[in-house]
Amino acid sequence: PSRSEVSYFGAGPAPLPTPVLESAASALLNYNNTGIGITELSHRSADALAILSATQSALRHLLDIPDSPGADGYQILFLQGGGSGEFSAAVYHMTSIHIGALVAAGTPDADIRAAAARMKLDYLVTGSWSLKASQEAARLVGAEHVNIVTDSRQHTPDSKFGTIAPASTWRPTPTATGDVALTYYCDNETVDGVEFPSAPSGPNLVADMSSNFLSRAVDVKAHAAIFGGAQKNIGTTGITLAIISNSILPPHATMADPKLLRKLGLPVGPVVLDWPTIAKNNSLYNTLPIFDLWIAGQVMARLLSHSPSGTTPRISVQERESVHKATLLYSTLDAHPTTYTVVPATSVRSRMNICFRVAAGDVSAEKAFLQGAEARGLLGIKGHRSVGGMRASNYNAVSVAAVEKLVAWLEEFARERGG
Ligand code: PLP
Repeated sequence: PSRSEVSYFGAGPAPLPTPVLESAASALLNYNNTGIGITELSHRSADALAILSATQSALRHLLDIPDSPGADGYQILFLQGGGSGEFSAAVYHMTSIHIGALVAAGTPDADIRAAAARMKLDYLVTGSWSLKASQEAARLVGAEHVNIVTDSRQHTPDSKFGTIAPASTWRPTPTATGDVALTYYCDNETVDGVEFPSAPSGPNLVADMSSNFLSRAVDVKAHAAIFGGAQKNIGTTGITLAIISNSILPPHATMADPKLLRKLGLPVGPVVLDWPTIAKNNSLYNTLPIFDLWIAGQVMARLLSHSPSGTTPRISVQERESVHKATLLYSTLDAHPTTYTVVPATSVRSRMNICFRVAAGDVSAEKAFLQGAEARGLLGIKGHRSVGGMRASNYNAVSVAAVEKLVAWLEEFARERGG
């Protein structure tokens, strides 16, 4: 089929909007009439710096990110290493400033040792990505420092992910002790189709927004850090975004001396994941993939152009579209309960990854559904290998028209089955 005959609901990088891809093709050949292609531009050239600053500024506008130089401002960083790299970066950084604060306060060595032994990283495990992040924390600092605040699998009849238990059941480390270096959550669980209706709270809050970045407004000020890979809603694989509070960066926060961390048995991270180093160098500590950055900037510019300048935050136009598309899909699934079952609990259904079963998971019915979808150019609907079933990803690049085509197929298939 030709590209225009296909609607792709894949879990991986969503296909980018056609106008962005078309200008990307020409930028690869000759960027902005410079005579050289964008992948040939030095990351320190004036053109690259202009792309960097335009992309930072677009993101600031879309999410209303405070840019004061004081502790209440936020830095926007671009890195490599993906969401997974940031699982580790968050642990390295938050443990370092946890110890650094004790040093800066003149705490005696013995008390620092005791505090380091008590330090906790609190993880809300609501799906397979937050589980992975918590496992990385345990690998880096030791399981004794990782507190699982909630594990959604303990709250479902089949012991699988698919819900977020009420906050009244959570077991956070008591904040009064000052031992919580990090409270971590994954805003949208890509594989399991579970999304936080609103951000949880906790000290030193860090969020993974890899799969719902730029799909709704975010209370940035409630977070110490927010990160995500670009490849779902923002652009191409190869670039990671991080929004970091000045309050956790020097000079507002103190990094612990690596020698001290080693003495305390705590890890020292690689410099390419070190937020202060990346911030100090305006994301150019090492070579930044300028093409990926430019794509992200083009997608953001497009989002901005769709939202009038008086809109606050500017992302709210895209948020309305995301909700509209997700509502179309969920209401169709709910209207045919004998044919379709939505997997996650109603209150935590993701707007981005719509996970459902056909005929209660009957193998031949699910195969027939997928084959019919494919015949209609509706691709990428097979669920993640670890959970099976169907997953229609509804990223920003998926148009309302594409969703309407899928809705038509959902209805036709249900009619054929008499449900
Ligand atoms: N977090 C979430 C929510 C994801 O969906 C993914 C990848 O799909 C990751 C983290 C890992 O990202 P990466 O592959 O960029 O390391």
